[in-house]
Amino acid sequence: MPAALGGPRLLLRRLREAMAEPVSPQARLDRIVVLIAANVVAEVCSVYVLRDDNILELFATEGLNREAVHLTRLRADEGLVGLIASTAEPLALSDAQKHPAFSYRPETGEEVYHAFLGVPLLRAGHTLGVLTVQNKTYRVYSEEEIEALQTTAMVLSEMIASGELDGLGSQAGVPRQALMARGLALSDGIGLGHVVLHEPRLVVKTLIAENVDREVERLDAAIGSVRSAIDALVERGDRIGTAESREVLETVRMFAHDQGWLRRMREAVASGLTAEAAVERVQSDNRARMLRQSDPYLRERLHDLDDLANRLLRALIGPGAAGHAPLPENAILVARTMGPAALLDYDAGTLRGIVLEEGGPTSHVAIVARALGIPAVGEVENATALCESGDAIIVDGVAGEVHIRPGPEIESSYAEMVRLRARRQEQYRALRDVPAITRDGVKIGLNLNAGLLIDFSHLDETGAEGVGLFRTELQFMVAQRMPSAAEQQALYRQAFAASGGRPVTVRTLDIGGDKILPYMAKLEEENPALGWRAIRIGLDRPALLRMQLRALLKAAEGRPLKIMFPMVATVHEFIEARKIVDREKAHLARHGYRLPQPCELGAMVEVPSLLFQIDEIAKEADFLSVGSNDLMQFLFAVDRENRRVADRFDPLSVAALRAFRLIADRAKAANCPVTVCGEIGGRPLDAMALIGLGFRNLSMSPAALGPLKAMVLSLDAGEVARLIEAEMTTMHDGQTLRPLLTSYAHDNGVPI
Ligand code: PEP
Ligand code: MG
Repeated sequence: MPAALGGPRLLLRRLREAMAEPVSPQARLDRIVVLIAANVVAEVCSVYVLRDDNILELFATEGLNREAVHLTRLRADEGLVGLIASTAEPLALSDAQKHPAFSYRPETGEEVYHAFLGVPLLRAGHTLGVLTVQNKTYRVYSEEEIEALQTTAMVLSEMIASGELDGLGSQAGVPRQALMARGLALSDGIGLGHVVLHEPRLVVKTLIAENVDREVERLDAAIGSVRSAIDALVERGDRIGTAESREVLETVRMFAHDQGWLRRMREAVASGLTAEAAVERVQSDNRARMLRQSDPYLRERLHDLDDLANRLLRALIGPGAAGHAPLPENAILVARTMGPAALLDYDAGTLRGIVLEEGGPTSHVAIVARALGIPAVGEVENATALCESGDAIIVDGVAGEVHIRPGPEIESSYAEMVRLRARRQEQYRALRDVPAITRDGVKIGLNLNAGLLIDFSHLDETGAEGVGLFRTELQFMVAQRMPSAAEQQALYRQAFAASGGRPVTVRTLDIGGDKILPYMAKLEEENPALGWRAIRIGLDRPALLRMQLRALLKAAEGRPLKIMFPMVATVHEFIEARKIVDREKAHLARHGYRLPQPCELGAMVEVPSLLFQIDEIAKEADFLSVGSNDLMQFLFAVDRENRRVADRFDPLSVAALRAFRLIADRAKAANCPVTVCGEIGGRPLDAMALIGLGFRNLSMSPAALGPLKAMVLSLDAGEVARLIEAEMTTMHDGQTLRPLLTSYAHDNGVPI
């Protein structure tokens, strides 16, 4: 077996010189393949680049026919080159022609070569192309040679990714493929713009080492400091049992001590890369491998490894830009994960969309995105690695899709959709002052759900009657620390002022479960949704509830006030909560404060047990509000955050409709006003059914109000009521009424 001439370090030095030469990109690539072929003692060295259209094109060769350059093209899974591209694994063969995947291309003249070694050109785990060497003899390539070629491939990948080869070959703009990624629609709307990475990837600028020993030292020092930082975090997690999930940290710590990982990075440094380039190379290989795993657990671990690699890179090349630069026009934020506070740090006015790798529909960042009216898509696997800063991108918060580097047709069809939606919004705006009365004269109260102060500005815009659900916990969730009594009072005063005299139904803190305050110790509970949360915390530790109630009672300054309690499971809980309110009122009255007039107290109906105490709660409470999100979750035992079971129930199924009808009927009998404030109240078809069941007040997100009012205006409430009644009594299999109600709406011109 011929020995390599001078080894990988010499090759990297030569490559560095070649890259500094002031020649055209094609001339540079031609020079590079010559250098590689000479260094590994091969007759052939070729570079294939993966184009936008998923075709592998020969970009340069030493040894094959030069005429084949830019002519030889393979499908991304064709031949040995395609095999390497699709598996992202190196392939070494002593007789390539015997391999079943071998695909002979006469124009290359490769029939005389037998030995073949190819490695993928990878960046952040994604294949950009393939680098191959070939020999006439039946030689066996050594492990060292494979490793050396992979190191060289990394340098080439950076060249491709930096756009240095753009414009070469038969297609400009190499090799940034257009792609569509599916996720979960988190916030309605469509945004066109350019990628801004929330936490930009650290850019490794110096790839080739000047002094290998020094790079080894740098790598070891960085590993040492990252390990102690992680150890400290794990210890802190142990002490306070919170902050970052202990399990994740333990996994990261395990990786940080993994000998295989360390060895591979040291080998990459020994082959001539800088410490940071070695970290990136090894992580890119890891990514490539893990992205091709079907085991979700293993894929999930990719985050942990990415996290570790980023910590190492930060230790080696500094933290990168601190804070974030002003956003460019039409910015679309792409992030692995993001808290609501981080989102609020950005200038919402220039944000056109958000793409997250994590984040369910009820995550707090999603709620804030909806409040700000920014289209958002979550659970987009690998989003941060799929795009680069500045890439064109479209966020489709309606279908839950993201188009990265879209082609002109996609772009123009979305631009058209945006124009259409704007026109429709215009039509909804025209309905602003039209009373929401059905064709048969039934008045429907349409209210908004609010969480942040910014939501109150939608009252004027939409012509809503008031705020039907003020989720006060949101302000607590986006704060860095617990808001003081004075801060709470100031906030509620601002909210009441912003409502311009319209009624506001304030819900007391609904924390616990999935709603975590970042500054409060997180409880480890087996089933947090069924755990210590909402009114349960309020009653067990009344100090927090008392502080909030006092702030509300003071902020109302004698005006009417409506307060409701979340997650009430028994009438007794409601009565206990009312006693706390009464005590606070008495206390304030003694100190000469003007009390709200009237001060009404309501209960949310979101725990099924209340359905069986509905007469009693309707008698005790001044009003009821149906939290259908939780009510459905508990009624059907379907975790509202779990996508896998999301389709297993339908709020228009007979069981759900009977539950809703029971509430509407009994509340009416008790003369107790009732509203529906869960998500279904804002969906036209579902709301149509609710009206048919007898609900006359709905509360919804601001964007839902226009379409809802349009539906109400064309509806005959009596007719829908009769239709539902007839169906519910005959549907013995408990199936959904959705198809029937959908055709009814279509046949009767009700927009849903
Ligand atoms: C509900 O459960 O329907 C509701 C309105 O409350 P939240 O979504 O805040 O839990
Ligand atoms: Mg709820």
